[in-house]
Amino acid sequence: MQYPQWIWQNGAIKPWAEATTHVMSHALHYGSSVFEGIRCYDTASGPAIFRLTDHNRRLYLSAKIHEIDIPYSLDEINAACREVIAANGNTTDYLRPVAYRGLGGFGLSAETPVDVAVATWKMGKYLGDEALSSGIDACVSSWQRFAPNTIPAGAKAGGNYLSGTLVAREARRLGFGEGIALASTGLLSEGAGENLFLVFDGALHTTPVSAALLNGITRNSIITLARDAGLQVIERDLPREYLYLCDELFMCGTAAEITPIRSVDGRQVGAGKAGPVTRRIQELFFGLFDGSTPDRYGWLEAV
Ligand code: PMP
Repeated sequence: MQYPQWIWQNGAIKPWAEATTHVMSHALHYGSSVFEGIRCYDTASGPAIFRLTDHNRRLYLSAKIHEIDIPYSLDEINAACREVIAANGNTTDYLRPVAYRGLGGFGLSAETPVDVAVATWKMGKYLGDEALSSGIDACVSSWQRFAPNTIPAGAKAGGNYLSGTLVAREARRLGFGEGIALASTGLLSEGAGENLFLVFDGALHTTPVSAALLNGITRNSIITLARDAGLQVIERDLPREYLYLCDELFMCGTAAEITPIRSVDGRQVGAGKAGPVTRRIQELFFGLFDGSTPDRYGWLEAV
């Protein structure tokens, strides 16, 4: 992998190779970190970071859940994100702010210093170059999401991603493009790192935050764009078999953007390709970056 030249760590831009941390850092052992994934898009008026402030607000919410005191303000983290993109010459498309318990104690409740970094790199298409147009084949994972009141699904915390890693690796091992997890209730939850939308009779149905999922910013953007375009959106509990019955299915997330799903568990979904509602949502979403969808929401934040 080709790494970018610069990274932001604890208040300063430094060369990538110098952004190191101690092997006895708390987060490395216990997953005690919170982070964000944010995309930067080229637009007619220059590079723009998509919902930078909303993402970093969620970083603070995740930190609040885990009592991680981030020693910088929201404005400072926003500025660090802009700074690291610019330092790398606007050649990257993805930002990764992370705050983690560092070196300073080995007990589970240790009050260690909190270290913060903001990395950026070129991600490209997360689920493959063809995924956005041709769609992917997904499977329901044998791994469920965490049960309520165990690990909080609403925090974007490092430790949570052991769940997503099991789901994603199992799916790839079995030859699928991505895995979909059920909640401990047996109802649909979300993809390894993506939220889900099912389409029935032209209406969008998405699983509720009570289904052990991350309240995705892409999910929220789609709900807003779809409703503003006159489409119906319903947040509701959905049983697994609806994956096989729906007219269209797609997953969404900062990395996956809007990825159609053409089959689940080897069963064709709808026509087995991106359907009209999925394509309309892609148009509305990607239109924000080429200007065909007006940004009425202040979501594009200039670098
Ligand atoms: N669920 C999980 C588990 C995720 O990791 C992500 C990616 N952050 C999402 C959903 C989608 O969230 P967002 O649209 O905010 O990227």
